[in-house]
Amino acid sequence: MKYDLHVHTYNSPCSTLRPETILRIAKKVKLDGIAVADHNTIKGGIEVSKANKNKDFEVIPSIEVSTNRGHVLGLYVNKEIRSRDFFDVVDEIKKQGGIVILAHPFRLLPHLRSKVKGIDVRKYLDGVECYNSRTSYFSNRSAIKFAERFNLAKTGGSDAHFSFEIGRCITLFDCDIVKAIKQRKTRVEGSNITGLFGSMLSGFVKIIPRRR
Ligand SMILES: [Zn+2]
Ligand SMILES: [Zn+2]
Repeated sequence: MKYDLHVHTYNSPCSTLRPETILRIAKKVKLDGIAVADHNTIKGGIEVSKANKNKDFEVIPSIEVSTNRGHVLGLYVNKEIRSRDFFDVVDEIKKQGGIVILAHPFRLLPHLRSKVKGIDVRKYLDGVECYNSRTSYFSNRSAIKFAERFNLAKTGGSDAHFSFEIGRCITLFDCDIVKAIKQRKTRVEGSNITGLFGSMLSGFVKIIPRRR
């Protein structure tokens, strides 16, 4: 199975992706599922789940919370999370029965980089995003080493904010995504060839007014 575990919608200020577009492109690039994780809201995840009529395609309602220790992806999250404290956010995701993934931990921009030094990450995380298509080759490689060192699941997600980014990085597994993450049996694949352009475009759409 092939899932892209990190996709944004127009509910993020830096994306213009609409639910129908996401579902159409995901099908075109032959994904079996996606996690829709907007910045600090579950709105997009819920909207895309509702729009999905294909029983053979899974939409995981998710969130990407900007915590005081970096970005945290919560998969299978159905209620909004207000806290921005890393430990509270992890607690809340787990209480909701969700999965905790550290997003792009080694991105070069300081506000996007994880600050988990000295924390027993094994206690708090299920996985680490090892392939993020907006992240450099070296930062992704550091994430892989980090996941292996602490025996955490490896996930891949495009961090798509635009249609051309969907499916650029993926998570591969057999059967069930939750089981595969819990058993550390996921694999990752992808490229960051569109990443820089996507990031620049995000900076641009953030400042222009647009129709929702
Ligand atoms: Zn992020
Ligand atoms: Zn993101």
